[in-house]
Amino acid sequence: MTVRTRFAPSPTGFMHLGGVRTALYAYLFAKQNNGQFILRIEDTDQERYVPGATEVIYDTLRACGLNWDEGPDIGGPVGPYVQSERKATYMPYAKQLIASGHAYYCFCTKEELEARREAVEAAGGTWKYDKHCLHLSQEEIQAKLDAGVPYTIRMNAPTEGETSYHDTVFGDMTFQNSEAMDDMVLIKQDGMPTYNFANVIDDHLMGITHVMRGMEYLSSTPRYNYLYNALGWEIPTYIHLPTVMRDATHKLSKRDGDAFYSDFIDKGYLTEALVNYLALVGWNPGDDREFFTLPELVEAFDVNRLSKSPGIFDVDKLRWFNAEYIRRMSPERYLELATPWFDQVLGGKNIDYRRLAELMQKRTEIFSQVPDMVRFLAELPDYTAELFDNPKMKVTPASAAEALALCGPVLEAVPEGEWNGEVLYDRLNEAIAAAGQKKRPVLWSLAAALAGQQNTPGGATDIACLLGKAETLRRLGVGANRLQNA
Ligand code: GLU
Repeated sequence: MTVRTRFAPSPTGFMHLGGVRTALYAYLFAKQNNGQFILRIEDTDQERYVPGATEVIYDTLRACGLNWDEGPDIGGPVGPYVQSERKATYMPYAKQLIASGHAYYCFCTKEELEARREAVEAAGGTWKYDKHCLHLSQEEIQAKLDAGVPYTIRMNAPTEGETSYHDTVFGDMTFQNSEAMDDMVLIKQDGMPTYNFANVIDDHLMGITHVMRGMEYLSSTPRYNYLYNALGWEIPTYIHLPTVMRDATHKLSKRDGDAFYSDFIDKGYLTEALVNYLALVGWNPGDDREFFTLPELVEAFDVNRLSKSPGIFDVDKLRWFNAEYIRRMSPERYLELATPWFDQVLGGKNIDYRRLAELMQKRTEIFSQVPDMVRFLAELPDYTAELFDNPKMKVTPASAAEALALCGPVLEAVPEGEWNGEVLYDRLNEAIAAAGQKKRPVLWSLAAALAGQQNTPGGATDIACLLGKAETLRRLGVGANRLQNA
C-alpha cells in the first residue's frame, strides 16, 4: 500500500497556523513512507469565495517547503483537485445512495425548515431534520422532480445503535448514532456537495489512505463511516489533530493577530523557525532535540508520538526559536533579510549595513524589532542628563561629563582615514588609562552620548564607526551640552 495523505483547505484568504501544522504533519507522514502528499482545494461553499485565496494556500505551502505531489496547479492521476471542478462527480454517488436507501431527496424549503425548527426549540427540544421527505412516495418525488422543485439530497442516518472507530491519536471512539448522526445534506440545492459528502467521495476516489485533519471532525466521522460503508468502500486511517491554542483556554485569534501564517511572517519571523516550532506543537521526537530541518522532520516524525491534548502555541518559545535561527544563519543571509528593515529608518543615510548587520545579528529575535533598535543612527533621540544615571555602570551625570571631556579631544585627533574600530579603541584606552580612569564607565558614557539611549547594539567604538567622525563629534558636543545645563 502506498501512503497517500492530503491537505484539504478551504480557500478563506488566510492560512491558519493550525492548518499549516496539519499540512506539515500530512506532508511528513507521506514523505517518511515514500508516499504522496496531495493538495485538494475545498471550495464547494461558493458563497464564501475569496479571490486570490488559492494563491495564499499555494504560496504558504511553498514557502514552508511542503511541496505537493498532486494538486490543482500540477494535476495528477485523480484530478481535478478543486472540488468545484468536480461537481459532476458527486451526483452519481448520491443517486447510488438514494437507490440503496441510504439517502433521499428533500424538497423542504428554508422557510418550512425554519418553522419546524422553531417549533421544536420552543418546546425545549433540539432540532434535527425530521425525515419529513423520507416518507414521500415514489410518485410524489417524481412529480416534484418533473416540476423542477428545488431539492437537496440528505443522508438517511440511522437513529439507533452506535458507531465505533479507531483514531490514531484519540484511540477508540464510540458515538451513539442518535447523537452523532443526522440526516445531513449531501448535495445542496445548487448541485454542489457539502463538505460532509465531498470529503468522503474525494478521499476515496483520490486513494487517500490516511486522513489527517483537525479534531473538530472527530464527532462527524461516524457519519462519514456510514457513507463509506453504504458505498462499500474501505474506511481510511484517521489521524485527528488537537486544536492549536494560545493557552489552555484561548484559541489563536484573528483579532489578536496570532492566528495566521502571514501574521508571523509580517512581524519578521522566519518560515524555517515557524515550521520547526509548529512541528513541536503537539508532537515531540521523544528525546530532547529541538532543531529540525524539514528533511530531519521527515526522518524523526512519528504519528504515535502525536499528543491528544491541545497544542499550545507559545509565542515566546517561537521567538526564542526565531532568535536561534537568526543567530545560526550566515552573515550574508542576515544582511539580506535585515536590509529592508534597516531601510525603513536608515534608507538614504550613509550607514554601513554590513557592519551594522554584524552588530545586530546576535541581538535580533524578530526582524520587526530592528527598525526601533537602529533608529538612533538616523537621528539622535532627544534625551536629558538623566540618561547618564546608571548605577549599574557606576555612571552619574557628573562622571559622564568628565568622560565625554576626556574622549572628545582623543576622537578629534583621529584622522578621518584612520577612523576604524581598532584605532578608536586603542586611542581611547590609552587616554583612559593615562587619566587613571576605568574603561567600562567611560566607554559606556560615550556610547550613551552617541546613541542618545542606554541600550545600544555594540559599544562606543562600534557606534562611532557607524556614525563617522563628523556625526560622532557632533553628538559628543550635544552630550556635553546636555550635561552642562543639567
Ligand atoms: N476543508 C476542510 C477545512 O478546511 C478540510 C477538513 C479535512 O481535512 O477534511 O477544515
